[in-house]
Amino acid sequence: MIYKRSSALFAEAEKVIPGGVNSPVRAFKGVGGTPVFVKEAKGAYLYDEDGNRLIDYINSWGPMILGHAHKPVVDAVVEKAQKGTSFGMPTEIETKIAELAVSMVPNIDKIRFVNSGTEACMSAVRLARGFTGKDKVIKFAGCYHGHSDSFLIQAGSGASTFGTPNSPGVTQGTAKDTLLARYNDIDNVKELVEANKNEIACIIIEPVAGNMGCIPPKEGFLQALRDVCDANDILLIFDEVMTGFRLSKGGAQELFNIKADIVCFGKVIGGGLPVGAFASRNEIMNHLAPLGPVYQAGTLSGNPLAMAAGLAMITELDNDDEIFTRLEEKTKYLHEGIRKVLTENNVVHTINRVGSMISVHFDEGAVTDFETAAKGNNDTFKAFFHGLLNEGVYIAPSAFETWFITDALSYEDLDVTIEAIDKVAKTL
Ligand SMILES: *Cc1c(COP(=O)(O)O)cnc(C)c1O
Repeated sequence: MIYKRSSALFAEAEKVIPGGVNSPVRAFKGVGGTPVFVKEAKGAYLYDEDGNRLIDYINSWGPMILGHAHKPVVDAVVEKAQKGTSFGMPTEIETKIAELAVSMVPNIDKIRFVNSGTEACMSAVRLARGFTGKDKVIKFAGCYHGHSDSFLIQAGSGASTFGTPNSPGVTQGTAKDTLLARYNDIDNVKELVEANKNEIACIIIEPVAGNMGCIPPKEGFLQALRDVCDANDILLIFDEVMTGFRLSKGGAQELFNIKADIVCFGKVIGGGLPVGAFASRNEIMNHLAPLGPVYQAGTLSGNPLAMAAGLAMITELDNDDEIFTRLEEKTKYLHEGIRKVLTENNVVHTINRVGSMISVHFDEGAVTDFETAAKGNNDTFKAFFHGLLNEGVYIAPSAFETWFITDALSYEDLDVTIEAIDKVAKTL
């Protein structure tokens, strides 16, 4: 395929936008080459600026679970836009979407809307600190909770020592309050809790990790986390920005039957507009301003267009009792197809899958945490990525990302994808 116009547009963008993009992964640094510029999208397909049609497995990194430009969502936004796009005053639709979200998700009484997943996670941690009166946070290596300072921390000299920032601009003062644990390693969590008795406000986790490929929690791991939290007055935060309204109506809490204290949302809940949210039981949510002392605010929070898109999206999900089964079946079909063709072509691989999240890793060992995810052969991934792009299949331009299956994908699209993977596998 030819990417002449995309390359030209990227060169223009680079002059006025750092790296030519407004979010780093879009720049293709992980795979080389220049990014594809999208012109429009409909259903399962992207149409780029060079006139190519691509089958999309990113779907805006998750939100478009029903496919692009889904009519009920588009209609809801258009209708709202004609009535004014922002007021900074309460609107009825905010209550409507809140009521629906609270009815779909277990263990939450109240929900506060913000503008991104980053804001949701950042605010959830502030709330946890304000509620518990403690400062420290445990996060897991390889889990992404947005780009706020507390989360940009890596292991440094070892998981049991204080974190060191992995971005300039994050202070040591902030870093010292973030402790880093290994995903799926409950003993590691217990060590950190032991070493920081009565200092830990919360443990934040992606209940299915989706930002280092797709990594399911090991059997019993989430329950063990719940138990550690209960025994030590620590709040358990499920970052369901990716899994919320994707793995089931009630997200990962429902799928694994584990209660979180605070839940963060983003992506699907905004129907493709900039939305995040965090939610909890009354006792905790009532600590937020204006009811309580923990401050959090937003000029465009609860924006009517965003709420209209989100409400249309989650209403569709709520009304369709088959959707999550359908998505899982499609994902399983794709999984089996990929496994078959990669095996036949002797490509060493591991595939992880939960619901409509799936990832392909070019290593034979089990992928259970950041360390094992990082073992994948990146040269193979790059060739795989560009090979698929050339065949009209768009996967994330990074080996550490999940593929998202949408309801708009047909079995024919999946077959075309599997054939493309077969063709590419012969060249790896
Ligand atoms: C995408 C994501 C975020 C950040 O959301 P933004 O809207 O990009 O700020 C946070 N947590 C998880 C699990 C995510 O996947």
